Amino acid sequence: MVLLHADKEEADNSLLNRILEDNEIAYTRLSDITEVISFLENNSVNLLVVGEVLDNGTGLELINLVNNSANIVVPTILIVDSKESYHLDHYTSLGVSDCVLRSDLTHSKIQNFINLLNEQKKIGKGMASLSVAVIDDSQLSLKVVSSILKENGITDVKLFNDPVGLLKNYQSYDLFLIDIIMPGITGDKLVGMIRKMSPKSIIIAMSTVDNVKTISNVLSVGADDYVVKPFNKVELLARIRTNFRSFKLLKELESKNIELEILSKTDSLTGAYNHGHIVSLLNDEIKNSRNNGIPLTLAMIDLDHFKKVNDRYGHGVGDEVLIKLTTIFQHYKGSCHFGRYGGEEFIFLMVNKELGEGYKILEELSQEFSNAEFGGIYEPLTFSAGLVQWDSYENEKEILKRADDLLYLSKERGRNQISK
Ligand code: GH3
Ligand code: MG
Ligand code: MG
Repeated sequence: MVLLHADKEEADNSLLNRILEDNEIAYTRLSDITEVISFLENNSVNLLVVGEVLDNGTGLELINLVNNSANIVVPTILIVDSKESYHLDHYTSLGVSDCVLRSDLTHSKIQNFINLLNEQKKIGKGMASLSVAVIDDSQLSLKVVSSILKENGITDVKLFNDPVGLLKNYQSYDLFLIDIIMPGITGDKLVGMIRKMSPKSIIIAMSTVDNVKTISNVLSVGADDYVVKPFNKVELLARIRTNFRSFKLLKELESKNIELEILSKTDSLTGAYNHGHIVSLLNDEIKNSRNNGIPLTLAMIDLDHFKKVNDRYGHGVGDEVLIKLTTIFQHYKGSCHFGRYGGEEFIFLMVNKELGEGYKILEELSQEFSNAEFGGIYEPLTFSAGLVQWDSYENEKEILKRADDLLYLSKERGRNQISK
């Protein structure tokens, strides 16, 4: 990060050095206005701190020059020397981000500002990955917008000089910049269509028309924002950035929701589906079998003498066994679901499998399980199972009861077997 300090007076060095070191900031102080402008034009400066007095003019004169330069965009803090010259409202209207009394310039005040800049930088980095479509019938506009985007690191930009090109083989983009005055289609209609097809994208409408009715119409059909042409580069970027922030939050919320949904369905120890979800899947599969006339086979599985495993080798080893069993069943590639019904009891649902096929599959998996090696366990581990094929009169409770009875039979008959 680069900080430029435009001031006749030197900063309080001990304070400054600490902040600069902590934040890995390159610091330059200049007191000549011309040198300051030329530095800003030739370097990418992240923060400009301006004092009231410079060698050949005032801080405010410098700020005016910065404002009038099309190429310089930099957050600026003004340092004033006395309470009399502290007019925050006035300075804010000149584009100054903050105004600080020199005697109030504390470590935490500067640090807060730098944190804010870091946050903005992060947003800027995220923005670089946006995919963008610009739709405008003016070639010049297309050129201007795409060069502004590219200058700011946004390179995935597609240009369309009429909506047909975009709509023909429609592909969604993260950000749409749409000129709303184009031949052949009204802006409202185009924005509305795109909003319908891309409900989560950012849509910014652009136009030379600057009246409240047009603007509110286009916002009401789905645009997120509106810029009036010819637009200022800084304004366009600021609007993209603001909308990007909500876009990013929405994406984060979506991925958190997916994570939560997975968590709510998963048994935390084994990664198998939990009781609630495997029963709900059983209900779904029963419906599916009924509607499509396909077979469904269910195995109720229980580890043999598992209490002994815990007693002899400890609970940790017992847990490992449960995880291994799950891994083996999850690796099976057919259409199936595996869930932990409770404790060391599991359900294996085989979709579109007859009883005979299900039996073969389960036998193979049982073999694989008893061949598996566990650290420190020397005798083979086994499970017993009850295997049933769904009968069209059965509900979920009835099929589970039948499987459970057969599992009990397997236990009675000496374990390590599948009863069907
Ligand atoms: P059987 O062959 O008749 O099924 O005998 P068993 O010892 O496997 O059955 P029992 O129902 O007597 O014991 C089940 C054991 O499973 C007792 C319980 O501590 C253990 N268990 C249940 N959940 C977990 C778990 O999450 N981790 C571990 N390590 N053990 C568990
Ligand atoms: Mg058991
Ligand atoms: Mg049990």
